[in-house]
Amino acid sequence: MKRVVILGSTGSVGEQTLEVIASAPNRFEVVALAAGRNVEKLASQVERFHPMRVSVASETEAEALRARIGNDVCIGVGEAGLDEVAKAPADLVVAALVGAVGLRPTLAAIEAGRDVALANKEVMVMAGALVLRAVQKHGVTLLPVDSEHSAIFQALSGQRAQDVARLVLTCSGGPFRTWDAARIVEASVEEALAHPNWDMGAKISIDSATLMNKALEIVEARWLFDVPPERIDVVIHPQSIVHSLVEFVDRSVLAQLGLPDMRVPIAVALAHPERLDLDLPSLDLASVGQLDFEEPDRKRFPALDLAARALAGSEAAPAVLNAANEVAVAAFLEGRISLPRICEINGRVLEAHLADHAGAVVECVGDVLEADAWARALASEFACLPGKDPA
Ligand code: MG
Repeated sequence: MKRVVILGSTGSVGEQTLEVIASAPNRFEVVALAAGRNVEKLASQVERFHPMRVSVASETEAEALRARIGNDVCIGVGEAGLDEVAKAPADLVVAALVGAVGLRPTLAAIEAGRDVALANKEVMVMAGALVLRAVQKHGVTLLPVDSEHSAIFQALSGQRAQDVARLVLTCSGGPFRTWDAARIVEASVEEALAHPNWDMGAKISIDSATLMNKALEIVEARWLFDVPPERIDVVIHPQSIVHSLVEFVDRSVLAQLGLPDMRVPIAVALAHPERLDLDLPSLDLASVGQLDFEEPDRKRFPALDLAARALAGSEAAPAVLNAANEVAVAAFLEGRISLPRICEINGRVLEAHLADHAGAVVECVGDVLEADAWARALASEFACLPGKDPA
């Protein structure tokens, strides 16, 4: 029995992780779950999976949860509760929170000696070098859950690092791949949330519409696989069947294919180094018919260049980019700014950081959180000002 902790159990990846676990009940035991404010969903997860410990956002949710499930389960609250769940005795911690809030608990899990299945890409974006140092120091394994990184992880299995020439991340192009710039300015929240291939949470759906998701994934890949950014490419692949590729020095290319379903990369990370027999339809290439690939349009989607700029900038720059993006995405979801303004704000905050803090280094979580807070404040300011839509 592999004992599993899930940080972010009521989110999209958290729920799908529990679905995979439910399909292999003899292999996994759920020992602790961390959620935020969705008491209803957490209560039904507790009734079904019987964890010993859970955590919620605040005392309000804890009271509501206690009324539902009684006193048999340890209920923690806030940051301390999240920390206790992260360090609960377990074999694997699934880090499935969204955004910067996942950084501390993911580091706590690593420091407690737990292997981590990482879906919370912002952790690597904000503090990739710090996380890698902690992983090495505590001798734990980091397993990617992000579908592209899972594909690369699978393609790299059994290969030597020095034989890798290039990583190629595939990108669906999002819902606005074929829209012209003027039309993207008018894109509604509903249109941006309607991803053509993947069923995901709101934040990542908007990131997919701006291609910021791919920008964050470039940074994530740089740290997860320790490959310099100039050897990480992106290709648009609208069908989302090829999940990413690795080119080796002999020009042989290994790709991982499958129907777009997050349960597959989740299962790969959960069962590693084994595989789970998932009751899913087979990939029928004849019925897919065609696999298309194209260059990303960096003019309509400037996000990709922001990743390169941040990685070439300071050690704190990716954290700045991530924080600005979280604020800008929230402003878009609230209907306060247009979609193209997300990358405009991200770019302005990044340039302001590089102008003032070009040499900023990251030695501890405090350094990351300081850069994060600075970027959030500036991005909020920009989001309140009328900006220019880069049409
Ligand atoms: Mg992905």
